[in-house]
Amino acid sequence: MDRFTLIGLAYVVAVAFFVLGLKQQSSPATARRGNRISAAGMLVAVVATLWSEQIISLQWIVLAVLAGSLTGALAARKVAMTGMPEMVALFNGSGGMASLLVAWAALYGGSSTPEPISVFVALTAVLSIVIGGVTVSGSLIAWGKLSELLPGRALVFGLQRAFNGALLLAILVSGVLFILNPSVDSVYLGLIIGLSLLLGVMAVIPIGGADMPVVISLLNSYSGLAACAAGFAVRNDILIVAGMLVGAAGLILTNIMCKAMNRSLAHVLFSGFGAVKTASKAEGEVKPATTEDAFLILEAASSITFVPGYGMAVAQAQHVVRELGELLEAGGREVNYAIHPVAGRMPGHMNVLLAEANVPYEQLVEMEDINPRMSMVDVAVIIGANDVVNPAAREDEASPIYGMPIINVDYARTVFVLKRSMASGFAGVDNPLFFADNTRMLFGDAKASISAVIDEFKGT
Ligand code: NDP
Repeated sequence: MDRFTLIGLAYVVAVAFFVLGLKQQSSPATARRGNRISAAGMLVAVVATLWSEQIISLQWIVLAVLAGSLTGALAARKVAMTGMPEMVALFNGSGGMASLLVAWAALYGGSSTPEPISVFVALTAVLSIVIGGVTVSGSLIAWGKLSELLPGRALVFGLQRAFNGALLLAILVSGVLFILNPSVDSVYLGLIIGLSLLLGVMAVIPIGGADMPVVISLLNSYSGLAACAAGFAVRNDILIVAGMLVGAAGLILTNIMCKAMNRSLAHVLFSGFGAVKTASKAEGEVKPATTEDAFLILEAASSITFVPGYGMAVAQAQHVVRELGELLEAGGREVNYAIHPVAGRMPGHMNVLLAEANVPYEQLVEMEDINPRMSMVDVAVIIGANDVVNPAAREDEASPIYGMPIINVDYARTVFVLKRSMASGFAGVDNPLFFADNTRMLFGDAKASISAVIDEFKGT
């Protein structure tokens, strides 16, 4: 078998691994295996590509794989669970940057003497540079917003849309002028790169608050599309297929996120979250509870629903939550965990945390399934969730989150809210749930509060 047949076969194996890996990632039970299978596919693809182009020797391939794997493993080990979304934003940005650089390099051709650039290579390289550029700078802004280095709210100014429209037009015109006369020294190439980076910044600054999940999955999709275009520019089949898979998966996720927020993509991208609306102020009497109160009410309950949110990730309370759940179940009570699709700071955040704590999958209930049963629940225990249980989204038309589906915890007989203060959540809006007649606030770090309730149950 010659080298090219072997490389073709390696690509088929890599694609099969990607597809299988993606399929397995769709269920928490098989997600880890799916991740490993996809990573193995990527290893095959990288080695086969470098070998096929005879770019570098085997020693360099091994060295690069080791250096990359070590960096990735260290980053993954070091990152706190609450820092994962920022890491994902940086990964998306790196993907966009890599595609931009690959496409740019493709314009130089394979040899040391400059060759004429074909229209096809120019077109696909421009596409990759534009999408990659938007992804890099957009992801950096998203990273800044998520890590609170930049204000999380939407930043809007007059004529913003007109400005962005003009930017897009300028990119289009520069792109056409470049493709008509492609050269690595073209001034239009520099313009395309600069304007695309600027567009990424301008496109993400007007998005903020509760709309951020959509932006993250959209940027993920862009990084795939940029890679796909770069694949055409360098004529590499595996890059085209891998890019398409990431692009398609990201678009599907974006669609799911939009549905979860009950917003259209256009609304997310152009409306400027919360920039115009101001929610009504939530006021009333707050009823603090002690851990002993919580113990007595939970002990008398027969059905309990835990609703985790971002605060559970901050407190790393998932293990004690599972322990309390088991204690309640052992006493013959019905226990489940209601999962909102955008709870936390990344898609599937709560599923990952609860899976890590070995909560049985069958106890996880989707928002659509728990809501019709909520009025039959004795106690809803909110663990560091805020926006995803805010009744203002259902009732207050002036609220920036109005229309976002929520878990209707206020319909339960008693609600315990575990958080440290009266502070608002990611969207920055007040929550009338905290003042409802059936709500008791259990102030403090969620892990400490749950541990104290467990101690009450154990009589220690
Ligand atoms: P929120 O951000 O609305 O609320 C989290 C709450 O947790 C805060 O009010 C905070 O209150 C509390 N908290 C923080 N630390 C602790 C702690 N140690 N112990 C107890 N409580 C704590 O979270 P939700 O999960 O309800 O909503 C997610 C929000 O994030 C939505 O607006 C969503 O749109 C957005 N988002 C989601 C993404 C995703 O992909 N899932 C991505 C980006 C944004 P206090 O400070 O008083 O303790």
